[in-house]
Amino acid sequence: MARCLVTGGAGFIGSHLTERLLDLGHEVTVLDDLSTGSRENLAAVANHPAFRLRVGSITDPLLLTEVMAGSEVIYHLAAAVGVKLVADDPVRTIETNIYPTELLLRQAVQGRQRVFLASTSEVYGKNPKERWTEEDDLHFGATTRARWAYGCSKAIDEFLALAYHRKFQLPVVIGRFFNVVGPRQVGHYGMVIPRFVDQALAGRPLEVYDDGGQTRCFGHVQEVVECVFRLTESSAAHGEVFNIGSDELVTIRGLAEQIIAKVHPGLAIRYIPYREAYGEGFEDVRQRVPDLTRLRTTLGMQPSRSLSDILDDVIAWKRSQPAGDQT
Ligand code: NAD
Repeated sequence: MARCLVTGGAGFIGSHLTERLLDLGHEVTVLDDLSTGSRENLAAVANHPAFRLRVGSITDPLLLTEVMAGSEVIYHLAAAVGVKLVADDPVRTIETNIYPTELLLRQAVQGRQRVFLASTSEVYGKNPKERWTEEDDLHFGATTRARWAYGCSKAIDEFLALAYHRKFQLPVVIGRFFNVVGPRQVGHYGMVIPRFVDQALAGRPLEVYDDGGQTRCFGHVQEVVECVFRLTESSAAHGEVFNIGSDELVTIRGLAEQIIAKVHPGLAIRYIPYREAYGEGFEDVRQRVPDLTRLRTTLGMQPSRSLSDILDDVIAWKRSQPAGDQT
C-alpha cells in the first residue's frame, strides 16, 4: 500500500480520487488551500485513520516540500480552475499553475516519487479538428485574451513534466481531462452542468451562452479517477500524455434540453452572448471531442457511463443538498 499525496484533494475531482485511494487501502494526505474546494467534500473520509488534511497553499515551497517528503505517489490536481475564474484573475492562474508544478517535479526527481499531473483539454485551444489526439497541435489565441492563460499554463506544466521524464526518468503521467462532471461539482466557476441543474431546480430559465451549438463531451468523475489511478500505476503510461474523458458528444443546447426534460419540463432557455457572460473579447471553443485510442489501448477501458445516467446522478446529488446550498 502506498503513501499518496493529493494536491487539490478537497476539490471536486481530488475528493473523489482521495475516496478511491482510501478504498483501495492507500494512505492519503491532501494539501489544499480550500479556495475552490471545501472540507465538506471530504466529509465521508474525514475520520478515516489513513487520511490527513493539510490546509495550505502549493505556492508555499516549505509546506509543499514537507508534505511531499512522506509520500511515494503524488497526484497533482491543485490549480486555478474554470474559464470564468481564469478570465477574472489571470495572475493567480499563472502563479498557481506554473511555479509550484516546477518545484513539485524537481522534488519528485529527488524523492523518486511517481507523479500524476492533471492537465486539460484547454491545451488544444482552438484546434479545428473534429477529434483531438494527444499528438495534435495546440492552437492558442492571442496573449491579450486572458482565457488562454489557463490552457497555456497547463501546457507549460506538460512541457516541464515531459522534460523531467526525459532528463531524469521521472515516472510521470499527464492526464488531459475533458469535461468531468458528477456530485460535488459546483457551478460558481462557470461549470455548465451544475449551473444548468441549479437553474432548473430553481425553476429559472437555463442560460445558454452564444447559440448553444457548441459541443462538449462529459465524463463521470468516478470513471475519470479510476483512469487516473490505473494510469499512474502503469509503467507503460509513464512519460506519456493521455486524453481522459468521455467521447459522447452533445451540444450545449441539447444538454439544456435534456436537463429541462429531467428536472422541470416547460422551462425556457435564455441565450446570452459571451461578452455578457465573460466580458468583451472572449473566445470559446466550438467543438471539443477527445480521441481515446491511447487511453483504451493502455488501460483496456475508457469512461463509458451515458450522459443521461451522469445527469441523473448530478440531479439526485443536487436534490439531496440542503436548501440554499444549490448554488
Ligand atoms: P476544483 O476547483 O474543485 O479543485 C481544485 C482544488 O485545488 C480545490 O480544492 C482548490 O481549493 C485547490 N487549490 C487551488 N489553488 C490551490 C493552492 N494554491 N494550494 C492548494 N490548493 C489549491 O476543480 P476540479 O474540477 O476538481 O479540478 C482538478 C484538476 O483537474 C485541476 O488541475 C483542473 O485544472 C483539472 N481539470 C478539471 C476539469 C473538469 O472538468 N473539472 C477539466 C480539465 C482539467
